[in-house]
Amino acid sequence: MAAERFRSPSFWFSTLEKPVQPRAPLDGDAQFDVAIVGAGYTGLWTAYYLSQREPGCRIAIVEAEVAGFGASGRNGGWCAYYFSGIESLIEDPSKRERALALQRAMFDAVDEVGRASKASGIDCDYAKGGVLIAGTSQPEFARLRAGYEEMRGYGFGEEDFRWLDANAFAERARIHGALGGIYSPHCAAIQPAKLAQGLAAFLESHGVAVFEQSPVRAIEKGRIRTDHGCIRAENVLRCTEGYSCRLPGLKRAILPLHSMMIATEPLPDSTWQQLGLQGRPTFADHRRTVTYGQRTADGRLAFGTRGLYYYGSGIRDYFAPDDPGFAHTHATLLELFPSLAGVEITHRWGGALGVTRDWMPFIQFDPKTGLGAVGGYAGNGVATTNLAGRTLADLVLRETTERTTYPWVGHPSRQWEPEPLRWLGAQGVRRMGECADAAEQKGRHAGLYGRIFDAFASH
Ligand SMILES: Cc1cc2nc3c(=O)[nH]c(=O)nc-3n(C[C@H](O)[C@H](O)[C@H](O)COP(=O)(O)OP(=O)(O)OC[C@H]3O[C@@H](n4cnc5c(N)ncnc54)[C@H](O)[C@@H]3O)c2cc1C
Repeated sequence: MAAERFRSPSFWFSTLEKPVQPRAPLDGDAQFDVAIVGAGYTGLWTAYYLSQREPGCRIAIVEAEVAGFGASGRNGGWCAYYFSGIESLIEDPSKRERALALQRAMFDAVDEVGRASKASGIDCDYAKGGVLIAGTSQPEFARLRAGYEEMRGYGFGEEDFRWLDANAFAERARIHGALGGIYSPHCAAIQPAKLAQGLAAFLESHGVAVFEQSPVRAIEKGRIRTDHGCIRAENVLRCTEGYSCRLPGLKRAILPLHSMMIATEPLPDSTWQQLGLQGRPTFADHRRTVTYGQRTADGRLAFGTRGLYYYGSGIRDYFAPDDPGFAHTHATLLELFPSLAGVEITHRWGGALGVTRDWMPFIQFDPKTGLGAVGGYAGNGVATTNLAGRTLADLVLRETTERTTYPWVGHPSRQWEPEPLRWLGAQGVRRMGECADAAEQKGRHAGLYGRIFDAFASH
């Protein structure tokens, strides 16, 4: 990939102050203490904490494209408290105490992203405005309320989750049809590509070797291999999340699910007065097929919905502007904010996120072989990757800490089904989610559709 040919994968990359110049690839063989595959947030944060704690540690990051090319430079910029699968961990009495500690660590991870980026001079438009989730029909509202009461029942207080009635909600955001909903302060809006690119530059200036345009072809004990060289290292960490299926033997380990985003033109103050969202809280409704939005630092609405799984674990890096996923995302945005009907959509993009078979993220590290792997955030990785990076650093340094006792460390997820079952299952579950959402929008209970969706895609 020549520098002039670098094609922006997202709105966030397109609006960086300086155009991205890909770094040089790995050329020849080299020796390091730690070799990290993938320069998304997981790899970058892991290198960050390792280099802070062990300044002498020789670290290399090897990235197929450029830092942040994957989900980390494309996401909705919700740096949020939510940990995929936390409900099932908390419900399990044998895991509850550690799961509650993990949830508190996630609250702190939202702040840590702000603290660490500020301390490193990385301006990623971090604004901790919290998150607003609306119930827009009676059944959706009831599900949201039940989830809220469950979390309060586990001891989380007003300072973590606050219930807003319709009026209180409307003071913060005028989402069409909102009957009320949840506010949590544990979320910041960020500019995702600024964080990824900023971290890579910071690491490089602190002695971490960052090789770009270098797809890793094989990961083995003590070694990674690219087309133009090998790195030998005592510790080898796979941080490839939704892209892991491209590596040998990992086709069924993590399912790449796509998510689709659009951004509006910058909106005038008069429009913001109608919409609310002062202080840049992130927002969503509570439909099963997932929505997420943020008011960007430059005054646009960036908004996304969950997209498709492609047969054979296919991954798409770029999408045609007339991809039906964008029309669906735009239509959904207008359901939430009908007054945006005449507003121009200036950017459209999508990307792959990683989902494990039980929708639970994992951190694996074997101190004997030095091999590690992290991922499966199921669309909730912006803050989680920060906690993952600190935890993986603990494990690489062979230290037992509070973090290494959280239940996702060593958590095994089983493989996804072979094709065509994987594709058929993903299509079926998605259809169930759409039917459940349609029923709830009409004020009916989602019934069997909702139960099937929740059983197979609960997180
Ligand atoms: C459209 C979209 C919206 C999202 N919105 C949110 C959100 O608002 N909030 C939230 O919390 N989460 C969100 N997510 C999820 C979040 O972005 C991810 O969970 C997180 O970025 C994962 O980071 P990562 O470093 O593990 O993976 P990635 O960022 O995907 O990085 C993996 C990197 O590995 C590289 N790679 C892959 N294979 C190889 C190889 N063989 N050799 C070398 N390099 C390789 C890739 O090029 C990539 O750069 C969203 C995801 C998408 C796609």
